[in-house]
Amino acid sequence: AKEFKSGAVIFEPEEHVTAPSRLTVLGDLRRALEGAGELFLNYQPKYTLDGERIEGLEALLRWRHPVHGLIPPDDFIPAAEGTGIILRLTEHVLDLALAQMRCWMDAGHGVPVAVNLSTRCLLDVGLPELVRRLLTAHRVPAELLRLEVTESAVMGDAARSMEVLQRLHDLGVKLSIDDFGTGYTSMAHLRRLPVDELKIDRSFVLGMISTAHDAVLVRTAVDLGHNLGLTVVAEGVEGAEHVAALRDLGCDIAQGYHYARPMGGEQMSELLDRVGT
Ligand code: C2E
Ligand code: CA
Ligand code: CA
Ligand code: CA
Repeated sequence: AKEFKSGAVIFEPEEHVTAPSRLTVLGDLRRALEGAGELFLNYQPKYTLDGERIEGLEALLRWRHPVHGLIPPDDFIPAAEGTGIILRLTEHVLDLALAQMRCWMDAGHGVPVAVNLSTRCLLDVGLPELVRRLLTAHRVPAELLRLEVTESAVMGDAARSMEVLQRLHDLGVKLSIDDFGTGYTSMAHLRRLPVDELKIDRSFVLGMISTAHDAVLVRTAVDLGHNLGLTVVAEGVEGAEHVAALRDLGCDIAQGYHYARPMGGEQMSELLDRVGT
């Protein structure tokens, strides 16, 4: 078991023996978690479809490796997910995001920020207490924190992840289903989840103009989300034609390069000062 700075104790099973490259990544990651500055967050705004208002931000992890340079999250998060390191990484990300949120609040921007949670974290019954302690430590109201979980995360050990989600929800934290459309969540299951936002996977948004199948999926997801009383977000919105199509479908929120790329905290502060929240 590992004791976090916040006092929450989380069970950490033995790590599996794996290929050297992966071990190197994990070793370097452990070191990066101890030091300062190598791991940092970028933020990407989520806009109302008219592009007029920032509805919230998503925190995206970045790793500036001293030798290999910038490593994208898809290149190290899967490796970390296979071990207990993901729990420490998640605590670190929450800590960074909440510290930044506190700064923005002090500057007059009570902007909601979403943090991504790995599947593994939802199996951790210590997570809600960890989140509660970090919110208190940074004096950030729970309502401003959003946690994004993938469809597959809530399908695995359904009973345990459901309990963790329910406890997070009870804290007042907002929950989103990420990468919607890539898994097999049934409508019945989705209805029972304590979530209030659905994010349509960017692969379908990207294909919705040229591929009939993707267009149908996006339309179905928007309708399903609305029928369940959820806010629907389209991710990976890259072009004006996507914005127009999503507006026709009644999608609520959009996130993507068309509006803004992920950016550092400083740059985001300037954007928030400029457009307001
Ligand atoms: P995601 O949660 O689906 O995040 C959205 C990804 O799409 C981000 O990639 C973002 O930079 C990218 N993106 C945004 N707009 C566009 C667009 O218009 N076009 C395209 N092609 N891409 C766009 P990123 O930052 O490389 O993150 C990749 C994945 O890594 C994330 O996918 C998420 O699953 C994971 N991840 C990132 N940060 C964290 C974290 O702190 N914890 C965990 N557990 N996973 C994270
Ligand atoms: Ca996400
Ligand atoms: Ca996503
Ligand atoms: Ca993804």
